[in-house]
Amino acid sequence: MSGLESLYQELILDHSKNPHGRGLAGEADAPGSADSHQHNPICGDDITLRARVEGDVIRDVTWEGSGCSISQASASMVSDLVAGMPRAEASVLIDGFREALRSRGKIELDVDEFGDAAALSGVSKFTARVKCAMLAWVALEDALARA
Ligand code: ZN
Repeated sequence: MSGLESLYQELILDHSKNPHGRGLAGEADAPGSADSHQHNPICGDDITLRARVEGDVIRDVTWEGSGCSISQASASMVSDLVAGMPRAEASVLIDGFREALRSRGKIELDVDEFGDAAALSGVSKFTARVKCAMLAWVALEDALARA
C-alpha cells in the first residue's frame, strides 16, 4: 500500500468515526430546504440528507444515516465540501465524482477540487462499493433539484 493510500484510508476512518454534518438542521418544510432519502440495498446503507439553499448558494448540508464506513465517511466529506458553495459548482462536482467513481480506478479525484472526498478515489476499483460512496452524493443531487 502506498503512503497516499494509507493516508486516504485514515481519512475515511476518521470521517466515519467523527462524521461532519450529522444531525438534520432546521425544519424539513422551511423555504429553501429539501430532504432526500436514499437506500443502498446491496450494502444496507441508508441516508436522509437535507440541503438548505439561499438563492444560488448552498447554506449547509446535514444528514442522518446508518451503514458502512464508506457511506458514512462520504456523507461527512460531501457535507464539508459543498457548504457555502454555489449550487452550479456543486452540480459540477457531483457529476465529476460520479464519473470518477464509475471509472474503475482510471480517474483520480483531485484533492484541490474534492478536498477530503478525494480519499474515495480508490473505491472506484471495487464496483460493489461504488454505491456506498455515491449514496450521499445522489441524495445531495436529488435534494438540490427540489430545494
Ligand atoms: Zn456500504
